[in-house]
Amino acid sequence: MLKALKAPDSCDVAVIGGGITGLVLGYRLARAGMAVRLFEAGERVGGVIRSERLEGSLLELGPFSVMLRSPEFSQLLDELALEPATVDAGRSRRRFVQIDGELRQVPGSLPGLLTSGFLSLRGRLDLLRRILTDGRPDPSDPPTLHELGSRRFGREFADHLVGPGTMGIFGAEAWELEAEACMPAVHEEDLLQRTTVGLVRGIRRKAAPAPPRRLMSLEGGLATLVDRIAERLGGSILTGARVSRIDQSGGGFEVAHSDGRELLAGSVVLGVGPQESARLVSNIAPSASELLGGIRVAGLGVVHLTFERGQVGRDLDGFGYLVPASEDAMNPVLGVIWPGSVFPAHEAEGTTTIRVMVGGTRWPLALSLDDETLVSGCLERIRSVHRIKGQPKHVDVTRWHSSVPVYEVGHAARIRSIADSISRTPGLAMAGSWICPPHGGIGVNDRVRHAHEVADEISSFLGDRSRRPSGSGAADGGPSKKVSA
Ligand SMILES: Cc1cc2nc3c(=O)[nH]c(=O)nc-3n(C[C@H](O)[C@H](O)[C@H](O)COP(=O)(O)OP(=O)(O)OC[C@H]3O[C@@H](n4cnc5c(N)ncnc54)[C@H](O)[C@@H]3O)c2cc1C
Repeated sequence: MLKALKAPDSCDVAVIGGGITGLVLGYRLARAGMAVRLFEAGERVGGVIRSERLEGSLLELGPFSVMLRSPEFSQLLDELALEPATVDAGRSRRRFVQIDGELRQVPGSLPGLLTSGFLSLRGRLDLLRRILTDGRPDPSDPPTLHELGSRRFGREFADHLVGPGTMGIFGAEAWELEAEACMPAVHEEDLLQRTTVGLVRGIRRKAAPAPPRRLMSLEGGLATLVDRIAERLGGSILTGARVSRIDQSGGGFEVAHSDGRELLAGSVVLGVGPQESARLVSNIAPSASELLGGIRVAGLGVVHLTFERGQVGRDLDGFGYLVPASEDAMNPVLGVIWPGSVFPAHEAEGTTTIRVMVGGTRWPLALSLDDETLVSGCLERIRSVHRIKGQPKHVDVTRWHSSVPVYEVGHAARIRSIADSISRTPGLAMAGSWICPPHGGIGVNDRVRHAHEVADEISSFLGDRSRRPSGSGAADGGPSKKVSA
């Protein structure tokens, strides 16, 4: 009875999800002077970003590195005084693909591809032919990344480079992924440019104004970023607080969380996956909810194997390697990263750690294998390439179920429809990694950039509303400002 009489708590913005997206949203909104409440279902913030020490080695249990390529990320590092703690990737330029059991180094340019042995003679001739002929798409071509790569650069290029590359980033096969959703700038140029050389030039021109790309991490790992933002947000964060329901109430929202407690918020923003977003907006944006429910998600697993340095015969000089789907149907390994080569400080003295990625849409069952079976399967596949003797000293297995949205064919249009649908619920915004570029994206850099963009939209929505004469808000049928997905 007493509980029912107690007035609900209130704030300007309720942020749902304490991964990097939600944290940056909360941080930016609080900096803009908003009263923020951030709800995180788990006991810790950071979502899939998690760095842990194991016997002196720093393990990134989720994302390994960030490709810094947006002014928003640089600004965030500056504001958090983290720039001095950044660690640039070392020997990351050398990247490999496993072909016929051997590692082949990926050439960094088109001339390199034509002159090196990365592609077979047939693959190089196909590449040459496609460079010289009109490669514009036909309306009947499937709009996937594999088709685009194959049409512009040849089938072998698509199988051996585009395929493993996209699996490494998007956790899905290139033939499942929509070019427009994954790489809108490339897709746009593909429609415009007659030749492959024109396509490459066009893409470079578009990327030109961006700041220099920098592959980086932080002292203490990527969790340092999460911890610093959480520090700044302080008491605005509620952990162990799963949001169970959102309803419209007056001019704002009623947010129900753990144990049926409620909060009133002027605006609500979701930084969670598509299925959870679908569930949460089912009362307030039913058509968006239905579209969100149709987004497929994949799981990824990370297996760390740490050896005494002398047990690994191969000199691990480079970023690591990716495994094409064509390599071996029974291989659960999607790719391998050599952490000590990229960030030497991550590795304990005298040891070598190998980070193995498993799962994705190629091997969803890998995530349901027990640790022992999964580790022995990975070890079997990487042993000869690395010339490993004996068993690892330490092993760590992390499974991230339903963690990566699949930008499959139709995704870009679906995201536009969702944005359109939620614009009919003023004050509601979404920022999960299921929102594809040009606004969103999966990588940490894209998450930060997108969170900045959405936070600005919410600030201006709440600012406009507070400037309007009382009684003219959307709740009484007045004009409303769109807060887009
Ligand atoms: C294994 C792996 C490796 C990756 N590697 C890289 C990499 O090297 N570089 C890179 O740039 N990107 C990488 N990525 C992608 C990138 O890490 C993610 O896209 C990004 O971190 C997602 O952040 P997020 O905040 O959007 O979501 P999440 O990290 O998933 O966070 C969502 C949060 O919301 C919470 N939540 C869910 N439902 C509720 C609810 N109802 N109420 C309250 N809280 C809720 C969850 O507990 C979670 O903490 C990787 C991803 C994975 C899984």
